[in-house]
Amino acid sequence: MKKIALLVLALILILSFAAGTALAADVTYVKVTGSVVNLRSGPGTSYDKLGSVTKDTQLVWLSTGDGWYQVKTSSGQKAWISATYSELVSVADPGSSTPQTPSSSTPSGSAKTALVNTNSSNVRSGPSTSYSSLTKLSAGTEVTVLYFSDGWYQVRLADGTEGWISASLLDLGNSGSILVAEKERRQTVRFTHGQVCGSGKYALSSGTAGLIVKIQSSEPFLYEIARTSKGMAFYTDISLSGETNVSSYRASGVSSLSQTDNKTALLFSGSQKLYLGAVPSADGCTVTLTVGTSPLIGHRIVVDPGHGSYAGSSTDPGAVQNGLSERDINMAIGRALLYKLNAAGADARLTHDGPTSLDLYDRAWFANALEADAFVSVHCNSATNNTANGSSTYFYAPAGNTMGWNRSEHQLLAKEVQSELVAALASRNIGVKEERFVVIRETDMPSILVETLFISNPSEAAVLSDPDSQQQIAAAIRDGMANWFAAME
Ligand SMILES: [Zn+2]
Repeated sequence: MKKIALLVLALILILSFAAGTALAADVTYVKVTGSVVNLRSGPGTSYDKLGSVTKDTQLVWLSTGDGWYQVKTSSGQKAWISATYSELVSVADPGSSTPQTPSSSTPSGSAKTALVNTNSSNVRSGPSTSYSSLTKLSAGTEVTVLYFSDGWYQVRLADGTEGWISASLLDLGNSGSILVAEKERRQTVRFTHGQVCGSGKYALSSGTAGLIVKIQSSEPFLYEIARTSKGMAFYTDISLSGETNVSSYRASGVSSLSQTDNKTALLFSGSQKLYLGAVPSADGCTVTLTVGTSPLIGHRIVVDPGHGSYAGSSTDPGAVQNGLSERDINMAIGRALLYKLNAAGADARLTHDGPTSLDLYDRAWFANALEADAFVSVHCNSATNNTANGSSTYFYAPAGNTMGWNRSEHQLLAKEVQSELVAALASRNIGVKEERFVVIRETDMPSILVETLFISNPSEAAVLSDPDSQQQIAAAIRDGMANWFAAME
């Protein structure tokens, strides 16, 4: 895809972690005015340095000290920043740029609230289930939403406790505005070759998708990725040092790793075509590379298990036939697909993992906010005639419309997945279809909706409910997507 080729050439500014300029009305921010400004553990230069932020980064304002502002970073950490190099900005409504002086010291003003949709929902100390549970909330509890990151919301409870809760456990109403906060963190800038700003060390290890190279520096750094005649190159603005012997990692497909004279590039080559993905940490001081032979490496893919239970009054099981609810089948295939994509080196995310308040528009916006490279919604077909059978894949990109500019890319994604699916299941090939479904119409990136098999047909329902077949369907979708990414490069 053209966009991917451009991304490869573009540079990623990894040190920006704006706390979400698109949050609800009357949120007060500290906007960074210096080019690079330190964050410290207290209001003075004698306090420990916690990190640094760049010009125009916006941080949630918590309080004002003597010439210093207390702020919250994107990772939820509290820190202090000098008022000499920053200014207070109150965002009256999203899109308004009129700065206002905050009139009270209420932390972050009147932020957006949300309702917990499931009993015994864990509030954790960080944005994943590996963090410890701080407390459990019952359904209907109101919380204040502070920040969104990777499917988790940072929230404040009525007693002032702050923690993280899985996005699937919260009902936000119009969640799109929160999801946009994630997008602010992914900026691109031009990068000038030859500038060496610092130094970093890297270490090699094996991952499921190939060679893992973890690069660490004491300061945030810039990088870019490019395909060369010999393989893949990683360029950066710092000087790198580390082990270059890759003989123990031959299974990754990487047969050699070398550095340029000025040590600002890592060059990977192999006997097969290589792919390279880079994931920066939130503070920009660490970048993890995956180098291997799968075209899925480094691509962000959103997987949407169709239907689900919605918070509040409505639930949506999808088609209910032959003792099965479609949403359960979609969820099982979606989870299997997530696992397989990530094992192949992709950066895959689920729109939801169980109970959800996301409607169809939210699911598309979720993928848009994450700037995903591809989107796939997993469904089962259903018909009143229980002999109806077969597999089909939908896309939507009408020619002659602004949505149709990359029609061939959308269409090819559907075609690649459809052909793998039909081959794997030996099912009837209904074909690639174009339909104006919300999730494939509202997504900005190439997107498809897969109708795997008919849940209304007893023999296909038996296949859909079989765990081995669910794995097989997920593998077919993964393989079709891999073929498409290879073709798009
Ligand atoms: Zn469906």
